[in-house]
Amino acid sequence: MATTMSGIQLESSVTSFVAKTRKMLINGKWSDAASGKTFDTFNPATGEVLARVAEGDREDIDRAVKAARAAFDSGPWSRLTSSERGRMIWKLADLLEKHTEEFAQLESLDNGKPLTVARAADVPLAVDLFRYMAGWATKIEGTTIPISVAYTPGAKYLAYTLREPVGVVGQIIPWNFPLLMAAWKLGPALAAGCTVVMKPAEQTPLSCLRLGELFQEAGFPDGVVNIVPGFGETAGAALAGHPDVDKIAFTGSTEVGRLILQAAAGNLKKVSLELGGKSPNVVLGDVDVDAAIAGAASAIFFNHGQCCCAGSRLYVDSKIFDQVVAGVSDHASKIKIGSGLEPSTDMGPLVSAEQMNRVCSYLESGFAEGAKATVGGSRHGDKGYFVKPTVLVNTHDKMKVVQEEIFGPVVTAIPFSDTDELIAKANDSAYGLAAGIWTRDIKKGHRIASQLRAGTVWINCYNIFDAALPFGGYKQSGWGREMGHDALELYTEVKAVCSAL
Ligand code: ADP
Repeated sequence: MATTMSGIQLESSVTSFVAKTRKMLINGKWSDAASGKTFDTFNPATGEVLARVAEGDREDIDRAVKAARAAFDSGPWSRLTSSERGRMIWKLADLLEKHTEEFAQLESLDNGKPLTVARAADVPLAVDLFRYMAGWATKIEGTTIPISVAYTPGAKYLAYTLREPVGVVGQIIPWNFPLLMAAWKLGPALAAGCTVVMKPAEQTPLSCLRLGELFQEAGFPDGVVNIVPGFGETAGAALAGHPDVDKIAFTGSTEVGRLILQAAAGNLKKVSLELGGKSPNVVLGDVDVDAAIAGAASAIFFNHGQCCCAGSRLYVDSKIFDQVVAGVSDHASKIKIGSGLEPSTDMGPLVSAEQMNRVCSYLESGFAEGAKATVGGSRHGDKGYFVKPTVLVNTHDKMKVVQEEIFGPVVTAIPFSDTDELIAKANDSAYGLAAGIWTRDIKKGHRIASQLRAGTVWINCYNIFDAALPFGGYKQSGWGREMGHDALELYTEVKAVCSAL
């Protein structure tokens, strides 16, 4: 154990990891960028440089894609049985679990989230995801299909489908759950037998790079998992546009999702997208008010609101609107803001100065349009990238703060008095990622769930994730579903085989 700048005990493996310039993983070797360039990542609690990382660009992506191509087309990976593949992924999960504390600390340092949250959620969810997907490796099956071909009367056929890996996959991930997003993408791709080039977010590359070391320790052959840190406009764009990549999987903003789509058009690679959200969280008048208040607060303030599925539009029955707003505001005022490494911290900094400024400018635009904050409403302190948890009222449907994704600890609270009006309002969004419903009337809850245009609906809970439960968006929130059995569809092709008998 060693002590760091924050006075908190960090594992010595963490302090030595951030002390060295981190390289990129290409074909089983840790190498510098071809350009020799590096970039810095920052501790968002202090704004100080945390680590230096090799800055990948087109040439590095090209080397990584070549390695992934060779590993897919002719490497030992393609000759492994599905059982061997599954066991390797399981071994990776065991190693990750063994290093839970180290990963939780790295994640907290790089992203700013509370260490307690990274320990309890990010790392265990990633471990579980890998285990869940390890189990699927041996269960990716086709079907036999009876066919009756009109123009060959009397002929008999045996027809069946095979599910085969899609090939070389590019994966571009965001900074809000750096390790977990890596797991969501790598788990199903590897279970399906693909090879991968991953680009972590420039703000938070560290846990993904450390994960690369565990892939080596678990015995994955060279070139199966390649990790190239770098910026979106350079390394990310090169990966999305690469002609030898068969599929690109992206999680991030809707705006960048559109760019990925355009870049992918060159070779018509398959695309899956997990994009933004502006999720409605609905509190009906019959509810257990205290439970709904706690649920509404955690729906928006978990991970500092930096969740694509954050419950950022809070719709409350007008009969209890004031009570719920007062309760959520009271909850917000008691949230302890501080460095993610402090054990008492409930909410850490946002990930970057850019993100903090973006959230604050949304607040300004809301105030300019007439919104009022019942709590919060500004930056917290003048060091690090903290923003106060904020509840906005006096909003109307067309305001930017109601329509656009803020990706910070800001919720707009809006009253409703009629269920049809509520559903129309809740669906009045370009997004359709998630929604929440709080009610004692479970029948009504399910009925509303069926009317909401969202990929996930939580009833009397929020932010409940499981490796078995598919996640993804309607409308401009994305294409495809991650996790669950559905995730395998993103990484497999279906081949129909027809044999005359
Ligand atoms: P945010 O705006 O919240 O940082 P982004 O959508 O910009 O989210 O970033 C998510 C991921 O997409 C990051 O890994 C980032 O580097 C990458 N990215 C950003 N721009 C591009 C781009 N033009 N092409 C490919 N990847 C990109």
